[in-house]
Amino acid sequence: MRILVIEDEVQLARHISRALTRHGHIASASYDGTDGLRAALEDSPDLVVLDLNLPGLDGLAVLSRLRQDSSPARILILTARGEVEDRVKGLKAGADDYLAKPFSLDELVARVEALGRRGATPTAADLLKVSDLQMDVQHRRVTRAGHPIALSPREFDVLQVLMQEPGRVFSRTELCERVWQRDHEYDTRTVEIFITRLRKKVDSAFTTPLIHTLRFIGYTIRGPA
Ligand code: CA
Repeated sequence: MRILVIEDEVQLARHISRALTRHGHIASASYDGTDGLRAALEDSPDLVVLDLNLPGLDGLAVLSRLRQDSSPARILILTARGEVEDRVKGLKAGADDYLAKPFSLDELVARVEALGRRGATPTAADLLKVSDLQMDVQHRRVTRAGHPIALSPREFDVLQVLMQEPGRVFSRTELCERVWQRDHEYDTRTVEIFITRLRKKVDSAFTTPLIHTLRFIGYTIRGPA
C-alpha cells in the first residue's frame, strides 16, 4: 500500500515509515497538518496514519477535509492515551480505525494491514465503469460494450488502478509503485509495455479510445467528453 504518515513527532514519524517500508509498503511522512493535508490530497495514498494532535491544522480538521473531498484513503488515527473523546470524534469524522499512544510498531503494522485487507474504501467498489468499459473487480472480469476482454493479472491490475480514478493522470513511476509495489525488479519501461498491451485489448477495436497518454506526464483513462 502507499501510506502517508502525518505525525509532528519527527522521530516517531520516521520509525513508523521505516517499519511500514520494511513490511513492503511505500511510506512517506508529513510533519504538520497543513503539509499532510496537501500531500494526502495530491498523492492520494491508500492509507493515512494521522496523528490527531498536530500543530497548525489539527488532525480532526485534516480528517474532515479529506472526507469532504471524498478521499478514498483509509485513515488510521493516532490518539493520546485515555483521550476517549478524541477517538470518538475521530471515528465520527470518518476515521477507519484508531490506535492509542504509546503503541508498538508491530501493533501499528498489524492494524494498517488489517485495514488494507478490509478495503473499506468507496472506490474499492466491486464494479468499476468508464464509459462502456466495465470491470468486475471481485471476479476479475472486464468487458467493453458487453464483449469480454481477457487480461493477464498484471494488465488487470494496471487497468484497475486507472479505472479507480477516471480522469486522474498517473505518472509511470506512480503506476509502477501501485502495481509492482513489492517487486524491486520493475522499471518504468514496464509500464509503457503494459499500457501498449492494454490499449491493444481495450481500445483498438473501438472508435473511441479510453486510455490516454499525456506526453511526459503519464496516463489516464476517461470516457468521451
Ligand atoms: Ca502530535
